Amino acid sequence: MAKKSPRTLHDTFLDELKDIYNGEKQITKALPKMIKAATSPKLQAALQSHLDETEQQIVRLDQVFTSLGETARGKQCEGIAGILSEGSAIMNEDLDEMAMDAALIGAGQRVEHYEMAAYGTLVAWATAMGHREAAGLLQQNLDEEGAADKKLSKLAEGGINQQAAEAAHPSGEEEGVATDIGRPTNRRR
Ligand code: ZN
Ligand code: FE
Ligand code: FE
Repeated sequence: MAKKSPRTLHDTFLDELKDIYNGEKQITKALPKMIKAATSPKLQAALQSHLDETEQQIVRLDQVFTSLGETARGKQCEGIAGILSEGSAIMNEDLDEMAMDAALIGAGQRVEHYEMAAYGTLVAWATAMGHREAAGLLQQNLDEEGAADKKLSKLAEGGINQQAAEAAHPSGEEEGVATDIGRPTNRRR
């Protein structure tokens, strides 16, 4: 009996495409709940516009499958499922409005970073295998995820973190804390 040949990079590429295709669909179901849980109109608008982008990303993935002569199909993405499940745990917490907004941004950015990692790999593989149309479409999705991530950082650092911190530590209550607030990472001295 002939030994079955190992699956190739192209096979695993198709698997990862199915993974992110399913991930994007999960995200379209989660974003409306995040919009409802948010208080800041700017944050709500950012999440809504990313929901619209996400719908478009799914259309692009359909085009990627078509360009490869494949039928678009998803396969349960456990990574996004896990990140979204942590996000819904946050939404079930009794946080003050500003802390909830700050936490929703954090949850959203975990999603964006997972997606950026996935699309980064997919673009590199598509390019390496000469799937130029697929690479171009995947690059567009990668760029949108990056822009969404940056927009969320801007909202967090442009006021939401500071307002949430103000509720946690009213002015002057704790000297020396304010300098660390609003940084992308929490540095300890
Ligand atoms: Zn290939
Ligand atoms: Fe996406
Ligand atoms: Fe995204």
